[in-house]
Amino acid sequence: IKGENLNGVYSANEFLTRINLMKAYKEGSATPIKAGTKAVIVGGGNVAMDAARCAKRLGAEVYIVYRRTEAELPARAEEVEHAKEEGIIFKFLTNPIEIEATEDGWVKSIHCQQMKLSEPDASGRAKPVPIEGAFVDIDADCVIMSIGTSPNPLIKSTTEGLDTQKWGGIIADEDGLTSKEGVYAGGDAVTGAATVILAMGAGKKAAAAMDKYMQSK
Ligand SMILES: Cc1cc2nc3c(=O)[nH]c(=O)nc-3n(C[C@H](O)[C@H](O)[C@H](O)COP(=O)(O)OP(=O)(O)OC[C@H]3O[C@@H](n4cnc5c(N)ncnc54)[C@H](O)[C@@H]3O)c2cc1C
Repeated sequence: IKGENLNGVYSANEFLTRINLMKAYKEGSATPIKAGTKAVIVGGGNVAMDAARCAKRLGAEVYIVYRRTEAELPARAEEVEHAKEEGIIFKFLTNPIEIEATEDGWVKSIHCQQMKLSEPDASGRAKPVPIEGAFVDIDADCVIMSIGTSPNPLIKSTTEGLDTQKWGGIIADEDGLTSKEGVYAGGDAVTGAATVILAMGAGKKAAAAMDKYMQSK
């Protein structure tokens, strides 16, 4: 959306990496981070909950804006519960359309369209649709975008004969074998964003299959 390159806008991955791995939560850190006084997190997944709670612990008042309702939040119920307990404020049926700037190029507010849910479609999922003329502005000095990830396109674009899904995921069978002989894949690059345990499981299966393949040569 317009304004995503303003000062004070982060991707959730950058925000969390700087806090957790680069110790930006410490005073005098070499890579300080500003969670601001009022932070808005865009998205409703587990990573959005992580970012919200980190921003809260850095002292900001924190809002999560999500375009559907609580029932459709993709985050685990436990993560949502913990976020609420920590004082995160949820704004449901709210879809950001522009981040507005101060004169010197910092985030000032986030302009959002209010939504309603349509009747469920063939897939059984209700679609959020805009309520005509209904907008809301939320003041913020920090915005954290947490709207999902997709595989790095480099391998797909440089590996001839490697079949991938439309969204970029590598196609692999149960054992991790891809469309190329002797090439195996697993984890998020195959399933899309998932969990550590699933990635580890795929790694173990692929390792066994690779061993078998090499022994047969
Ligand atoms: C903020 C956040 C919080 C999360 N919290 C949880 C949680 O609480 N519990 C949980 O189970 N899961 C969590 N996840 C999900 C979990 O991190 C992933 O599902 C898991 O890391 C997937 O493992 P992977 O090995 O498939 O991919 P990754 O861990 O992403 O590893 C892929 C590796 O490949 C490297 N790579 C990419 N392209 C290339 C290339 N061309 N050449 C060489 N190397 C390359 C990358 O640098 C990376 O090191 C979280 C994810 C995020 C982003």
